[in-house]
Amino acid sequence: MKKKFIIPVISGILVLGILLVIGFSISGKGWFAKKSAVTSATTDTSLTNKDNPSTVSGTESSNSAQTDTPVTTNTISNFKDITQKDIEAGSAESNRMEALATPQAAKTESAQEPTPQAVEAEISQPIQVQTVPGADNTGIVIGMHTAVTNNDDATQLINSMDGLAQEGVNLIVVEVGYNYRYKSHPELASYYGLSYKYARKISAKAKELGIELVPEIDCLGHQSWAETTGTLLSVYPQFDETIGLYPSNTGIYCRSWCPLNTDVNPVIFDLMDELIDAFDADAFHVGMDEVFLIGEDSCPRCKGSDKGVLFAKAVNDYYNHLVGEKGVTMYMWADRLLNGAALGDVYDDYDSSYNGTYTAIDQIPKDIILMDWHYNYLPEFPSVAYLSGHGFKVITSSYSNVDAAISMINETLKIRANNSNVLGHCYTTWYDISNDQLAGWQTLVSTIGMLK
Ligand SMILES: [Zn+2]
Repeated sequence: MKKKFIIPVISGILVLGILLVIGFSISGKGWFAKKSAVTSATTDTSLTNKDNPSTVSGTESSNSAQTDTPVTTNTISNFKDITQKDIEAGSAESNRMEALATPQAAKTESAQEPTPQAVEAEISQPIQVQTVPGADNTGIVIGMHTAVTNNDDATQLINSMDGLAQEGVNLIVVEVGYNYRYKSHPELASYYGLSYKYARKISAKAKELGIELVPEIDCLGHQSWAETTGTLLSVYPQFDETIGLYPSNTGIYCRSWCPLNTDVNPVIFDLMDELIDAFDADAFHVGMDEVFLIGEDSCPRCKGSDKGVLFAKAVNDYYNHLVGEKGVTMYMWADRLLNGAALGDVYDDYDSSYNGTYTAIDQIPKDIILMDWHYNYLPEFPSVAYLSGHGFKVITSSYSNVDAAISMINETLKIRANNSNVLGHCYTTWYDISNDQLAGWQTLVSTIGMLK
């Protein structure tokens, strides 16, 4: 090496060494770590921007743009049980794994939370008397359904609520599922899930704005998605309707719990009670959509039972607890109560029933609020008159197909003109967008004027 190169080379080595030392010293907790988290999160947040949910039959793709919402490592952890297959499945409803997949660590660690008294003291907003939209049938219900899987989701939702209220939204259904730091059943809790403190923050904001807030746990069905079994049946496999069958959930839509297993309800009721308390809620949504595994021959309790009777029993069990014991209003999805054939086969076996559950409609209390979801365009939606004609209060529900939403809202208003049981309309996004973008949901923006 010629001498004239030595000094530059030595200088270069020194500079490089200094840079390496500086970089190494900050990589553990400085920008490098945060950048890594953001990079990973960007990958994982693709899960909240699903395209066409092919398994939700006929639902149109919204092709939503990728959001760049900052996501913390907590959010990443929340998604870690979601498999690549889930991602590739490309279903909006696969986002429901947020409500099902719980980090294993959550089952052994307990969340550190302030006492309820401390939380109450922290929340500065005055608690106002909650209004219940539609309860007196004087105002139309305009709802938004979303999920909150952790405290970041909660913060985003809170940040959206002024805008939603300004648009006219007066009902928010918050699907939480097992993504809560349950104290009553730490074995089912999500360590990174929603906390009591943030549930109370959402509640306080809702009360401030006069928005009815309805927490939700998917009951009976939707206990798995793709290869991933949800928290309840992972922890308590003996609750499964099809114990030991369908390895890796191959060949089924979603697992169900057994409606005749008497050990299930005490557990679920504890979870319901915690969410009702955390949200200080006057109502609860039990899900119960798209239940396909019910009354299976493999279940020694249910074998040979009428599926309508079994479904009605489950509805009545939850009703007796929620309405009878807790004094709250019960909401549920309506598809299992719709006789698909009697409605002219205009719906399919997802948004109406062809598996015998529909006879439950005559075996359950009429004061349950039914959410009648249909996401495909139809010129008319006969289920609205069908359900309200049976004496139920009905809220119709749309997704990303704006033409379908327009038609459904027209149907809603038409039937509502002569039947006050039709309370209004609720938008769903199935997590195509993050909670801080809810007020800009395209379907809402395009159609909410029809409701006001
Ligand atoms: Zn069973």
